[in-house]
Amino acid sequence: MATETVTTRCAIAGGGPAGMMLGFLLARAGVDVLVLEKHADFLRDFRGDTIHPSTLEIMHELGLLDEFLKLPHQKVRELSGAIGDETVTIADFTHLPTRCGFIAFIPQWDFLDFLADRAKLYPGFKLKMKAVVDDLLWEDRRVVGLKAKLPRGMLEVRADLVVGADGRHSAVRDLAGLECEDLGAPMDVLWLRLSKRADDGSQTLGRIQAGRMFIMLDRGDYWQCAYVISKGGFNELRCKGLEAFRHDIVALNPTLADRVSEIASWDDVKLLTVRVDRLKRWYRPGLLCIGDAAHAMSPVGGVGINLAIQDAVAAANILAEPLREGAVSEALLRKVQERRQWPTRMTQALQIFIQNRVIRNVLSMTTPPRPPFAVMLLKRFPWLRRIPGRLIGMGLRPEHVHTPEVRAQTAAAGSPPPMRGRSTPKASGGG
Ligand SMILES: Cc1cc2nc3c(=O)[nH]c(=O)nc-3n(C[C@H](O)[C@H](O)[C@H](O)COP(=O)(O)OP(=O)(O)OC[C@H]3O[C@@H](n4cnc5c(N)ncnc54)[C@H](O)[C@@H]3O)c2cc1C
Repeated sequence: MATETVTTRCAIAGGGPAGMMLGFLLARAGVDVLVLEKHADFLRDFRGDTIHPSTLEIMHELGLLDEFLKLPHQKVRELSGAIGDETVTIADFTHLPTRCGFIAFIPQWDFLDFLADRAKLYPGFKLKMKAVVDDLLWEDRRVVGLKAKLPRGMLEVRADLVVGADGRHSAVRDLAGLECEDLGAPMDVLWLRLSKRADDGSQTLGRIQAGRMFIMLDRGDYWQCAYVISKGGFNELRCKGLEAFRHDIVALNPTLADRVSEIASWDDVKLLTVRVDRLKRWYRPGLLCIGDAAHAMSPVGGVGINLAIQDAVAAANILAEPLREGAVSEALLRKVQERRQWPTRMTQALQIFIQNRVIRNVLSMTTPPRPPFAVMLLKRFPWLRRIPGRLIGMGLRPEHVHTPEVRAQTAAAGSPPPMRGRSTPKASGGG
């Protein structure tokens, strides 16, 4: 098989939120960057859809917010859910000190397409799809590049810095031999679609009943549904049969009775394994991991995308200038970890607390659940909802863009790239 060799300043494995945002920011700051993504496109429906107020603030700082919000999206100003028979509002984003007091629900493939289109306006940006990173290049215990499998042949990339942004099953962190601490997760998620009817209206996001949790994301013409199960419980569920599963869904949301038959077989139900972990050290000489590759996030609170983007902004702020000149020191890579480690640890600690104290209990309950005391306080004193609003919407230690902008290509590209905004993926697959 033919091997193609290229040289760049920074090679990024993985075109998810972390990899694409870092690629965009580095190219915008005049650094040569190559992002390698193993899939042929970004159209996979397993991804979360949440773009948080702090990420929207970053889009504003980049001068992209107005254009971005032209993509089809839903604005969610409050998060609410049904616990047993009680409907409660848990978080209020309207008082946040940001331009956007809401979470924008935008299919993630639209967000990534948007970033890719804008990044391509900078001469230093390159994106290689269908490139599966499967090895690292080493010289004297320093990472000096990577290897990727292409549909026809191999690609060898020599780079001053390799970034692992390849998600929670990161190959890069394994290849680099970085030690990982598994923090455990008591649940997995079943991912399925049900059609949306014109009279559905806006539904509560989450529903909790004895032993079951169900979340519905509005994706325009269909509902993306998440059914939370105990870790490893999928086989037991399958043994009970598809009809029992459909029945459970209707018990959680009776308005779905007219369409649960759309779940025709178990092939329509995808198992997404949840893991929460983090690297002890996010870097080696010549290599850095960010996003889920450095710290896999639980879906609790839907904050993983935001953290991945915050990592990318911090990494670009610290590394862009030195990278323009050449290789970056280990001390600078350590600085990225030091900057992002605290918010990561605190967020994971909160997620684990909720996983163990709420989700584990709910999944083992046999009697109808009642809202816990803290949730009743949120009901009684609405202003308290601003606290979870702040934690979810802004996260801890929100980052701001400090990287400069080199001139984007305008003459060759003509006008800005077209707005694409697709709401239905043409293909789906696991991460
Ligand atoms: C069931 C579930 C639901 C979730 N829902 C939400 C939510 O609603 N909101 C939220 O904020 N977070 C959510 N999360 C967490 C969120 O998905 C992650 O924290 C976030 O996607 C991390 O972004 P990332 O860029 O680091 O990694 P990823 O989004 O995983 O992106 C990694 C990219 O790398 C590519 N890749 C992988 N291996 C290779 C390779 N060897 N070579 C080349 N490319 C490779 C992948 O194809 C992918 O595009 C959820 C997580 C789970 C498990």
